[in-house]
Amino acid sequence: MKTIKSQVCICGAGISGVFTAYLLGKKGYDVVLIEKMERFNPNGADIIKPPVINIFKELDLYDEIINLGGIERKMVDMFHEGDLLNRFTYEGDDVFLLFPCEKLTKLIAEKLKSLPNVQLFFGEHIEKVEMDHDGTRVSTGNVTFVAEICVACDGDNSILRQEAGLKLQNIEIDQMILFGELNSTAGVEEVSKVYVNCNGGFTYLYPIGGNKSRIVIGFNGEEYRSSIKDADNSVIVEKIRKYLSNEVNELVGTIDSSTQFVPVQPKLFKCEHYYFRRIIFVGNTVHCVHPLSGNGMNLSVEDAYFAVAQIDLFYTQGMKFEACMSDYENQRKKIANNFVDYSYRLFESTFSREQFIQVLNINKYKTTYEET
Ligand SMILES: Cc1cc2nc3c(=O)[nH]c(=O)nc-3n(C[C@H](O)[C@H](O)[C@H](O)COP(=O)(O)OP(=O)(O)OC[C@H]3O[C@@H](n4cnc5c(N)ncnc54)[C@H](O)[C@@H]3O)c2cc1C
Repeated sequence: MKTIKSQVCICGAGISGVFTAYLLGKKGYDVVLIEKMERFNPNGADIIKPPVINIFKELDLYDEIINLGGIERKMVDMFHEGDLLNRFTYEGDDVFLLFPCEKLTKLIAEKLKSLPNVQLFFGEHIEKVEMDHDGTRVSTGNVTFVAEICVACDGDNSILRQEAGLKLQNIEIDQMILFGELNSTAGVEEVSKVYVNCNGGFTYLYPIGGNKSRIVIGFNGEEYRSSIKDADNSVIVEKIRKYLSNEVNELVGTIDSSTQFVPVQPKLFKCEHYYFRRIIFVGNTVHCVHPLSGNGMNLSVEDAYFAVAQIDLFYTQGMKFEACMSDYENQRKKIANNFVDYSYRLFESTFSREQFIQVLNINKYKTTYEET
């Protein structure tokens, strides 16, 4: 078996892994990034909020994102059972950005090619993890990667988290989510739209550039299992039309049997710790928020940004690893846990119009730095 040594080994090349590799690579660290798939996967995440926009501006990535079709927005129309509740508007100069996570991941991965100190390995499935206080060894069928520090970015089923024995606090929800792409129409190009109903269902519609719109549909789990799973898309359209508004009729009319929907079972959890020995946990390895609040990718980018700052302190300031990591955990866990709770409250509130209005506040929850 081949052995590859590095300072930092990053496991998983979703947005967390690719962004961590980029930040560490730019600082000159010797990095390997390991991904089990042969390519980057779409995941339905597109909404980028002000704190992450600020990080991208600081790194001179923002203008590139806009040039590649990123769309700045200030407004969202929110509906409950077909009635417009409000047109929510971000305050002041704040905007949110619509840009698919897959495109963002590819953009940053492309930049890794100009960093000779970063090696990217696709098609390497991590099967074994050995960890002690001085380093970590992760093995795939072909290679053992030995590193001083390991960054776990391998998503919600993280093998590293399982091997470290970290406990999760799960919040059970019975829902099924489908996401896909449609050709855009005027009603959605103008303002993003979120529809919820009293049965735990929702539909999100917004443009994602290139004359395409994203559709994300949530179904009550029981309804999905009993009536939708094996049906063609006409059943989906029939169900969502009951609580959508006229402005999106044309767009929804473009759904036919050839429209591809990717199913996802949403998860909600918090993790007890964000590091273990020489492993740092980032993104969906340590928190899963409900997609209704649109924050998982945002939290992942912020985690990566803060984790890299702490790794840098360890190497450049001679600080103890444990001290750097406990600062990281203290900063990030509180913010992520608040978002997990908020996303659950938001999901639960959809069953009642009054509660939904009460819980929803896009200005309060636009930033993940704020106390929530
Ligand atoms: C429908 C939907 C809509 C969403 N919308 C938004 C949104 O608008 N805004 C937002 O902020 N968030 C959104 N999210 C959440 C967001 O998608 C995730 O929080 C974010 O993408 C997590 O990124 P990650 O890199 O931490 O994990 P992942 O994207 O899960 O990446 C993990 C990577 O690790 C790899 N991997 C796993 N196991 C192994 C192994 N053993 N060996 C090697 N590689 C491995 C995987 O193949 C994968 O590439 C949405 C989620 C869904 C489901």
